[in-house]
Parts: sequence; structure tokens; C-alpha cells
Amino acid sequence: MDFKKTKFGRYMNCRVPANKRYQPTEYEHAANCATHAIWILPSMVGGSVLYFLSVDKWHRVAALLYGSGLTGLFLTSTLFHTAAWKISHLRKVEERFHKCDRMAIYFFIAASYSPWLMLRELGPWTYHMRWLIWVMACVGSTYVFFFHERYKLGELLGYVTMGAVPALVILSMVDRAGVCELALGGVFYAVGVAFFKSDGLVPFAHAIWHLFVAVGAGIHYYAIWRYLYLAGPQPQTSR
Ligand SMILES: [Zn+2]
Repeated sequence: MDFKKTKFGRYMNCRVPANKRYQPTEYEHAANCATHAIWILPSMVGGSVLYFLSVDKWHRVAALLYGSGLTGLFLTSTLFHTAAWKISHLRKVEERFHKCDRMAIYFFIAASYSPWLMLRELGPWTYHMRWLIWVMACVGSTYVFFFHERYKLGELLGYVTMGAVPALVILSMVDRAGVCELALGGVFYAVGVAFFKSDGLVPFAHAIWHLFVAVGAGIHYYAIWRYLYLAGPQPQTSR
């Protein structure tokens, strides 16, 4: 279906070649900002709730990491989309915000896995994923710093690897409660990528991608809150 020929056409600009950046319409710019800005405050509150539910220092550290990753993602995304909307003529500044936005995704993925990796008993060969995930986030961010927008497929592969590899570890958890929610959240991220790639084909594609991210993050937050914090003291892990 060609939306450009329908009455929704004015909400979207035409698709651009792979080496050029899509230019959102004013409506799309506003939606891109709003769809992540509204989650900044709830993320801070959500992180604080986990912190105050903590029963020991490991829970507190995991709550701080996760809360910061969640808030950081929505905050940097909002800042970048605001810059792309309002100060796009300052190319260098906009590009820096874009790099921060992309780096925040790596740290957000690491932060999302951290509570599970830190608070659940894992098999011996998966134990090292607790720190390895942060090394992966640093490697991904370094890649963004030097090669931002140069190899788009490389970037996408980086995110998929970072998102999928630690999931194998999670599946090795002795206690499996929460695995279904983790998988469901992952499905939302994966389906959302289709919209991430649909600028100029579907009106508000990027804002729809944002909403998929928010729902995925919301499901993961629920699982962490319910199974790792609300459930009370967990069996002692081999930290
Ligand atoms: Zn975005």
C-alpha cells in the first residue's frame, strides 16, 4: 500500500536513498519527541521504586543500573529528536546527539539484562556475562563513535547480537520465572525494527518504533519488578 497517495500522505515525506537520512515531516518530528519524552519521568519513578524495594546492596546496584539505563535511553532519544527537529542546521551538534542516542541503546540493553544477570543464579559458564555485557556495550559505543552511520548493516547487527546473545544465558537460569515476559518484550523490540526500517513507507514509522520500544521496556520492567524485587529475597546466588 502506498500511503503517499492516500490522505495520510501529507504526514510523511518520500523515501530517500540508503546513503541519505530520511527527513521527517513536522508532525513526525513532534511524534518522535513525544513518544519517548513521556517515558522519562515514569522511568525515573520506576527505577526509584525498585531501589526502595531492594533487600540488599546487589538489588540496589541493579536498580541503579537498570533505572539509569531506562531513563538514559528515553532522555537521550528525546534530546536527539528535539535537536533533529529544531537545530538540524547545526549538523555537528545534531550528529553528536545522534551518536549519544545510539550509544545509549547499547547501555540500555546491558542495563536491561543486568538485574537478571546479577540477581539470579546462573550456570558456571554464563557467570561471566555479568561483566561481559558491559564490555559489549563499550565495544558497541566505540564502534558508534568511530563509524557512526557508515555501515548501517553493521550497526544493526551489533544491536541484534547485543540483544540476543545474553538471552541465551538467561535461558540457563535455574529459576525460570519471568522468561516468558522477557521473550515477549524481545518480540516487541524485534517487530518494532520493521517500523524502524520503514521511514517514508509508513507515516510516523519512527514514532511507532518508539512505541514498540516503550511497550517492550514496559514488559521487561514489569518482569523485573515482579520476579526480582516484589518476590522478596531471592535464593543466594554465587556472586
Ligand atoms: Zn528514535
